[in-house]
Amino acid sequence: MAKKNDKKSKLEEKLTRKHELVWDKLSQKEKKTVFEFSKGYKDFLAKAKTEREAVAEIIKFAEKNGFKSIDEIKGSKPRTKIYITNRNKNIALIVLGSEPIEDGINIIASHIDAPRLDLKQNPLYEDDDTKLALFKTHYYGGIKKYQWVNQPLAVHGHIVKGNGKAVDIIIGEDPDEPAFTITDLEPHLYRGKQAKRRLSEGIKGEELNVLVGSVPVKDDKAKSKIKLWVLDHLNKKYGIVEEDFTTAELEIVPAGRPRDIGFDESMIGAYGQDDRICAYASMTAIAAQKKPKRTAIALFFDKEEIGSEGNTAVRSRFLETLIGELMELKDPDYRYSMLRKALSKSKALSSDVTGGVNPNYKDVHEIKNAPKVGYGLVITKFTGSGGKYMSNDANAEYISEIRRLFNKKKVPWQTGELGKVDEGGGGTIAKFLAEHNMEVVDCGPAVLSLHAPFEIASKADLYATHQGYNAFYGS
Ligand code: MN
Ligand code: MN
Repeated sequence: MAKKNDKKSKLEEKLTRKHELVWDKLSQKEKKTVFEFSKGYKDFLAKAKTEREAVAEIIKFAEKNGFKSIDEIKGSKPRTKIYITNRNKNIALIVLGSEPIEDGINIIASHIDAPRLDLKQNPLYEDDDTKLALFKTHYYGGIKKYQWVNQPLAVHGHIVKGNGKAVDIIIGEDPDEPAFTITDLEPHLYRGKQAKRRLSEGIKGEELNVLVGSVPVKDDKAKSKIKLWVLDHLNKKYGIVEEDFTTAELEIVPAGRPRDIGFDESMIGAYGQDDRICAYASMTAIAAQKKPKRTAIALFFDKEEIGSEGNTAVRSRFLETLIGELMELKDPDYRYSMLRKALSKSKALSSDVTGGVNPNYKDVHEIKNAPKVGYGLVITKFTGSGGKYMSNDANAEYISEIRRLFNKKKVPWQTGELGKVDEGGGGTIAKFLAEHNMEVVDCGPAVLSLHAPFEIASKADLYATHQGYNAFYGS
């Protein structure tokens, strides 16, 4: 009997590029490793639902793996593991290499903020007609607003009280705790007006009001009794008053833990995988570095989803300052020109997710160049839209380095473009890293339902991402 392989064209085998499903190539043992690895990731996702919580989890993980705060570090011995934080929303993990920092650094940069609903500064009100108490919100990042209604939501955040002391709160995650929700209109009542709205207007921004109470206080003289019950409850539980909302950052996020998806449990469904899947893959990869030649840095930025503005985003001078601090460990009188040289000789992976082909909406993609879930780490040469506008179009020489590295280390990879020409598009932090004159390319897994309250990633891609980042730090 002829073997299957005999039917293959030798010429085709020699010349054409293969697109292989990662699952096809994994041994039983490797599959087990992939599934095992995803457990730690799911725990991370469950605990890191805001940028502040992500920083706290990254510090916990880093300290467990031998990293120390820069304040505790003296000298610059190779292999020293350091972390530096910025305002509790932005953090860097560093492993010093044996080569001088001036010769360049290997950087992987992800973001730890995710689209959500933020409470307004004066959020709590009582609807007079219905006697229900609600929170006003202003959404953060690119969301499809209709996706956020009729589901359990939790409140996570940080409140600075009148005396300057802060309290962190999480309500709605524990199944024994109450959750919150946004009520949509029932089909019986929506035909007149709402059914005629365009999908992008199906739910409007000012309709994203979160239901938080319906019981009045026993106080005959009080005007808004339901609102007052909520304030009284928050005061007893957290010691806060209404004015404290003006100095708070409270985020409404989907309640509950990540779930395995599919009969085969091959995928993960969870909130905030853009871009915490890359954050987790890079944090575990940098912790695995034993003796790097080049200094390795994992950067975790805030505010990518709203344009990377602000002092905890990539566009602040955090990266420059931290490299300066690292150079000072060796030589307090280092020259600024050395810092610039270090940055321009650095290599970076802008580690962010991209949108995978959705079987229900294939026509938004140009299928020959679209990234697919389950096909490994995606190298994205350019992002942007309308003729690569506003994108970092990575250099062929640099992509070639990454290609050879991934092939050598057997990291499953594919290329990707976000949507058809002149139809799709999006941005990442790659172009801001490139401002330092370093080499940068976008490199992260493909995810389905990006920016939805429940995003889908493949466990095989998660592990491929970790493998790829591990190889990059080791190069
Ligand atoms: Mn992202
Ligand atoms: Mn995003």
